[in-house]
Amino acid sequence: MSALNPTMTIRRQMRESNGGANGSIEDWLSRTGLPDPDRIADALPHRLSGGQRQRVLIAMAMMARPKVLIADEPTTALDVTMQAQILDLLRDLAREQQTAILFVTHDLSVAASLADRVLVLYAGRIVEMGRIQDVIQNAAHPYSAGLLAARFDLDSDRQRPLPTLPPERRPTINTENACAYATRCPIVQPDCTAIRPRLEPASVHGGVVA
Ligand code: SF4
Repeated sequence: MSALNPTMTIRRQMRESNGGANGSIEDWLSRTGLPDPDRIADALPHRLSGGQRQRVLIAMAMMARPKVLIADEPTTALDVTMQAQILDLLRDLAREQQTAILFVTHDLSVAASLADRVLVLYAGRIVEMGRIQDVIQNAAHPYSAGLLAARFDLDSDRQRPLPTLPPERRPTINTENACAYATRCPIVQPDCTAIRPRLEPASVHGGVVA
C-alpha cells in the first residue's frame, strides 16, 4: 500500500519500472480487474483505494513478465473480501503468465488457498515442507500444528479461546546445538536441547520435517 510513490501518477510509475515493454499500461491495469484503466493510469496513488493500489502493484510486477514473483504478505492490510479477490487474481495471472509465486504469509489458510507446496519456518529455519494439503491435514511438526490450531473459522467453538504459544524466551539455548522451538514446544524432550534436528522424511506425509 505504501510502495507507490505518492508524487507520481500510476502511468509514470509503471512506465519507469517497466520501460513500456510487454504491452500497454491500460491493458495491464484492465487485466488486474481495474475498471476505467485510463483514469487510474493518470491518477495519483491517494486517489485509489487500498485494493486498487494493490492491483496496480500486481500489474506493475506482472508487466515485467517475471519467472518468479515474491509476494510478501500482499493481502495483510486488506479486508477478507478484497483479500480473496487479490488471491484469485494472483492465481489467474500466475497461470496465464507461467509465473511461479513465492508467497510469504503467517496465515496457513491463505497459503492453502493459493499454494501447491508449503515451507513452514521457525526462527529462520525450515521445520516442515511438503504439499500444502498434506501439511494442513497431517502436520508433523509441533509448530505447524500450533499454527493450524490457532486458525479461526466459522465452525470454531466461540467459547473456546484460540490456543496460543507460550511467550518466546531467549536466548536461553544455543540453537546451533538445539531445536530453536524447544523453549515453547509442548512435547519437548531432553535431547531437544542437545541436538539440532535435521530435516528427515515425515512419517505422516510425503514431505520432510525437522
Ligand atoms: S523441541 Fe523437540 S519435539 Fe519439539 S519440535 Fe523441537 S525437536 Fe521436535
